[in-house]
Amino acid sequence: MRIAILSRNPKLYSTRRLVEAGQERGHDIEVIDTMHCYMDITSARPSVRYKGKQLPYFDAVIPRIGASVSFYGTSVVRQFEMTGTYSLNESVAISRSRDKLRSLQLLSRKGIGMPRTGFAHHPDRIDDLIKNVGGAPVVIKLLEGTQGIGVVLADTQKAAESIIEAFMGLNASILVQEFIKEAGGSDIRCFVVGGKVVAAMKRQAPPGEFRSNLHRGGQASLVRLSPAERKTAVDAAKTMGLNCCGVDILRSNHGPVVMEVNSSPGLEGIELATKKNVAGMIIEFIEKSAKPNNTKTKGKG
Ligand code: ADP
Ligand code: MG
Repeated sequence: MRIAILSRNPKLYSTRRLVEAGQERGHDIEVIDTMHCYMDITSARPSVRYKGKQLPYFDAVIPRIGASVSFYGTSVVRQFEMTGTYSLNESVAISRSRDKLRSLQLLSRKGIGMPRTGFAHHPDRIDDLIKNVGGAPVVIKLLEGTQGIGVVLADTQKAAESIIEAFMGLNASILVQEFIKEAGGSDIRCFVVGGKVVAAMKRQAPPGEFRSNLHRGGQASLVRLSPAERKTAVDAAKTMGLNCCGVDILRSNHGPVVMEVNSSPGLEGIELATKKNVAGMIIEFIEKSAKPNNTKTKGKG
């Protein structure tokens, strides 16, 4: 098959591994810089242009869209979909997952475990917003943070109120969440491909830190999932409509709770921690899901 990886940087571990895994399985793989693609939105002949030429037909694209370029990145993925190309994750599902609040609203409707969460823009009663999620300590989040930036732990009611007031002053919408203390600064990344958890790792924050992000110095190790954790991850992926994603779960004393679902999960941490060929499993899933030489344009939006 002819597969394009939409990535801004061919040197990134995840991009390199997908190229390698695709070639190992006998495919034609090309890395295309998403931000340098431009689109021809002419009636009945949508196409993607790149470096002065119309791109040839691809059987599949693998979107690796950074959070900072979500809008343009998902437009490019959508344009590929308009030409009939299969996308590992649909553009609508990627957009959906980029909004933490939208994601939590969808997960809550499906009854998937999550930390008690409040959301507000300009509440008259900040004390009630905090009380409603169980009172301090609480975690306060900016809607569009990544890599742990914009995630704050407020130990006391007073601290929580002043942080919320500060965010309100910046005209930001705020997420207030029950602090899952019993997780002990660790979370579990479940890597889901095609409705199955294909790999999982535990990430432990360094001492004195509650955020387990690898970018914040978290350490990855192997973990065995309980059936409930596995089900939570699979249900979350399905709810979000993502074929390939990282579902981050905390072990709370009311069962597994989902913190977020990442539609471009990194491969480095998970492959090194589990020694699994996750890139290969992604390519294998595409082989089963994309129809080679599909010339019909599908009506997606
Ligand atoms: P980001 O998108 O920046 O990664 P997250 O919501 O994933 O933001 O939070 C970053 C980290 O903070 C998580 O990996 C987790 O370790 C910790 N964390 C987030 N929310 C909670 C919570 N409600 N209780 C305990 N720890 C949390
Ligand atoms: Mg996270």
